[in-house]
Amino acid sequence: MSFENLGLVPELLRAVREQGYEQPTPIQRKAIPVVLSGRDLLAGAQTGTGKTAGFTLPLLQRLAAGSRSGGRPAIRALILTPTRELAAQVHESVRLYGGHLPLRSTVVFGGVGIHPQIAKLRRGVDILVATPGRLLDHVGQKTVDLSRVEVLVLDEADRMLDMGFIHDIRKVMALLPERRQNLLFSATFSAEIRALADRLLDEPTLVEVARSNAAADQVDQLVHPVDRERKRELLSFLIGSNDWRQVLVFTRTKHGADRLAKQLARDGLTTAAIHGNKSQGARTRALADFKAGAVRVLVATDIAARGLDIDQLPHVVNFELPNVPEDYVHRIGRTGRAGNDGTAISLVCVDERRLLRDIERLLGREIPREVIPGYEPDPAIRPEPIRKAGQNQGRRGGNGRGRGQRTGTGQHARPGGNTRQGGRRARPAS
Ligand code: AMP
Repeated sequence: MSFENLGLVPELLRAVREQGYEQPTPIQRKAIPVVLSGRDLLAGAQTGTGKTAGFTLPLLQRLAAGSRSGGRPAIRALILTPTRELAAQVHESVRLYGGHLPLRSTVVFGGVGIHPQIAKLRRGVDILVATPGRLLDHVGQKTVDLSRVEVLVLDEADRMLDMGFIHDIRKVMALLPERRQNLLFSATFSAEIRALADRLLDEPTLVEVARSNAAADQVDQLVHPVDRERKRELLSFLIGSNDWRQVLVFTRTKHGADRLAKQLARDGLTTAAIHGNKSQGARTRALADFKAGAVRVLVATDIAARGLDIDQLPHVVNFELPNVPEDYVHRIGRTGRAGNDGTAISLVCVDERRLLRDIERLLGREIPREVIPGYEPDPAIRPEPIRKAGQNQGRRGGNGRGRGQRTGTGQHARPGGNTRQGGRRARPAS
């Protein structure tokens, strides 16, 4: 099966060739014909499967084929994404794949000035990529007209719901013409996603690829059991002794990401952190430095890392396991993408046994353990509860900033303070 066989027009085939893609990925093979036919689509696919091209290529083809009534273009396709990073990346794909077609596009997201966005919208675009909050800001200011939308795409819909965007999505839906094509992409199919699909989609075709455990097969996974207080030391040791040059490290909380980044910097590793409390400029800069090799370690929270597309990322480290097993699969999906090999290493302490068990249950197999000599866990250390973190992360209007970091994660401080991994007291000044 080739891109030619999928019935794409020469302008798109040329763009695909320029990207170096030789053949369509499974989600592209399945989704492209459905989207071209104009039907609604419910797609189970996560980042790393090539889903973006799976909806962007046929979308571009449909828009290019439909007549534009001359003059200023109207927004005919609206693509909603949960995060700024994903919006920027999807828009980049729209630009790349649509480079040989006479279609205009732009992207709007929060955290940056609204006026340049207004200027671009005023000039007219065929395709708008947006995060829901900023899109509604534009609606409020009457700087965007959604009355001509023919195709709506909800990308990473599960994450949009996790981030509390359901009301915003409903508001946007109410502004769209009734007759339109709807495409919903989601890595998981929770009850909420099904309810949204029921409401949004009209007799959708269901396509599903790489069930949440399949992506994991391309990646070498390993667990290093270690004590919670020695994780940072072990991480520095692994990076140094293996001479890893580009490592993406996950923590559960924003505070944890900042603290770890500082500690690694003290260990002499060039490190940056990205999470929801960082300005858009800081996040973009950190990602660019990481991609360019100027930053060796990028520490990220799950939401900030969602949708990051870093080619051939060789190493992903789970400094802390995620609370939600599916997030593990998303995290390790950052490595070994599109056929490249990668390694995903998890530093697991005694507190995280249950999380590891849930992840292995989802994967349907055990992840091999390897104790690193010198870092053997102390069997006398008792497990301690893990805070439910991340509840404020990425939510619009989140108020984590400036408050006590610990309460900012939705967990009350426990009496008699302890030395939990995610919430231990500040180290004595040294
Ligand atoms: P996505 O799942 O859309 O985030 O895409 C994951 C990565 O796969 C991106 O880096 C794409 O550039 C790449 N990709 C998409 N389609 C193909 C393809 N047909 N062949 C090779 N790589 C691809």
